[in-house]
Amino acid sequence: MTDPHSPQHLPTRTADVGGIPIQRAIPQRALRKVGAWCFLDHAGPADPEPPGMQVGPHPHIGLQTFTWMIRGEVLHRDSLGNTRIIRPGQVNLMTAGHGIAHSEESQTPSHIHAAQLWIALPDSNRNGPARFQHYPELPQTTAGDFTATVLAGEALGLHSPAEVHTPLMGVDLFAAGTASPARVRLPLRTDFEHAVLSLEGRVGVEGQDLPMEELLYLPPGTESVEIEAAPGSRLLVIGGEPLDEPILLWWNFVARTGEEIAEARAQWEAEALPGHAGVRRFGPPLDSPLRPLHAPSLEGTVLRASR
Ligand code: MN
Repeated sequence: MTDPHSPQHLPTRTADVGGIPIQRAIPQRALRKVGAWCFLDHAGPADPEPPGMQVGPHPHIGLQTFTWMIRGEVLHRDSLGNTRIIRPGQVNLMTAGHGIAHSEESQTPSHIHAAQLWIALPDSNRNGPARFQHYPELPQTTAGDFTATVLAGEALGLHSPAEVHTPLMGVDLFAAGTASPARVRLPLRTDFEHAVLSLEGRVGVEGQDLPMEELLYLPPGTESVEIEAAPGSRLLVIGGEPLDEPILLWWNFVARTGEEIAEARAQWEAEALPGHAGVRRFGPPLDSPLRPLHAPSLEGTVLRASR
């Protein structure tokens, strides 16, 4: 980063996940994580042809997947036996720990708008048992002219019930008014770093436009942020205590060493084969109509943990 002490506009990049166009905001070269948030995909808003987003069974280790559904419905299945449709206004939190597998299937109609984030688990929790939690309702309050939903951690005097393992926060701000732009000066914790991502409409931060293709990074020490948005706009603010551990993110895994990644990859590739017998790190095969996803090759890849 050029100057780690001032706000930075960082470009997101376009990718495809399960047939849906997404904007990947982190990780990127200039910013690996925000607190323990180590991955942020903004999916849609998109109106794909049916069947919409279809992500076959795939594994995770060392992280929590955090899904915030804005529009659309997605069926989650996992190797703990959970089957759950997530609907607008709800959060799915899947703690991978030592290992879990899941699939995600858009329901009909296939319209989708969501944010999917990953939270790196700290060393003390990353090899623990897998878990899945569904939060049908998150606490809401008013912040200036916005409706604020506290997704994770504590903000605006409210606590999210989502179970996380490091100090972090996440808030969805929706400009609910119909006439004039919504405004708020949002107080921030100075021991946290933060990032702001526009999810819909027209958003400005500190008097400057924040296009949907940019993430605004706010370093630790930032006391507050001035946000303005046109009626109907929506944005996401995430933050957390800078993570004091180098992490290694590869494919769907968060680990510390290349050996851990290679081992998890080999185990998944073996377990994804039909008729695999013996120990299953990622649990029994899912009852999903979709084929398991294969991990990319590791050949020629140098895996190194970074901050
Ligand atoms: Mn996943």
